[in-house]
Amino acid sequence: MVAQQFLEAATPNIFGPDTKRLQAHVWKIQCTQKLQHFIWQALTGCIAVGARLGSHGMQIDPQCIRCGMAPETVNHTLFECPPALQVWALSPIPAAPGQFPTGGLFTNMTHLFWHLPKDNRMKMYPWLIWYIWKARNDKVMSNVNWDPNEIIVKAEAESITWRNAQTRLQQIHIETFTLPPVTGDICQVDGTWKETDCRVGLGWFYFHTENMDKLMGASNLRRGISPLQTELEALIWAMQCMLRNSKLNIVFQTDCSDVVKMVSKPEEWPAFSLLLDEVNRCKRGFTFFIIMHIPRKENTKADKLARSARVLPTNVYYINSVSPVWISELF
Ligand SMILES: [Zn+2]
Repeated sequence: MVAQQFLEAATPNIFGPDTKRLQAHVWKIQCTQKLQHFIWQALTGCIAVGARLGSHGMQIDPQCIRCGMAPETVNHTLFECPPALQVWALSPIPAAPGQFPTGGLFTNMTHLFWHLPKDNRMKMYPWLIWYIWKARNDKVMSNVNWDPNEIIVKAEAESITWRNAQTRLQQIHIETFTLPPVTGDICQVDGTWKETDCRVGLGWFYFHTENMDKLMGASNLRRGISPLQTELEALIWAMQCMLRNSKLNIVFQTDCSDVVKMVSKPEEWPAFSLLLDEVNRCKRGFTFFIIMHIPRKENTKADKLARSARVLPTNVYYINSVSPVWISELF
């Protein structure tokens, strides 16, 4: 929620008609959700680079730390700083004079989104952007230098692995899980997001595997940037509710594997840093905390709670040990 407010506050002077189209396209890019969110964040100018930090009044030199030749804007970092330029020049992505790479972030993204030749190797560009960013951080924070060729090899390998995994998923359809049985306090969470609905739904279902104790929550919020944000908001709300009810030994379960990844490696998800800080803050309140991935078909209660709240025409905040009246014959 904090992240949403922050992004909304930042939007009016950044968004124009073209950026709306660019933003909408981000969610169609063939890459992981992590990279989609990172690119979205780059487009909205919400990456913490020098110029950006400087404009927030922090005591950081806005000049680029790596080259010292220009203010460290998002575009400079990802496209124009010499180490970034070198990666693009060595990569298979063709340069186009006046179009790519240029001093304009939106021009550069437009080129990558719509003007690349039809060739599978072009599909590595989201990973190139990501590793250019990681290389910048490694340099600034640990003075580690990446070889530009290493970035290209990594980006290409990961984009191929990802594409192959997509094909496999389409062929298999059913995900298979082999999980040890979990006992004790369990809290299943789910968030639901639909582009055409103005609200998102959050749901969680707590139960104890032996004593039949149960509690559930359903609520809705203004729609955020993506389904993933909603999944994370659902987890945070569930964690806060568990803490408030003194349930301090909890196995959280989600059907969104990216949420598990975000909690275990928050530094890889800068788009969600504010929400992930809140997850961490809550985590410290538990004596035992685990989050695990479960198949969708095992998360139907939290899913129904979340969906029911999303479609309600009014704000709702429901916590009870019995299911809400607006859900008929649920459980
Ligand atoms: Zn630079």
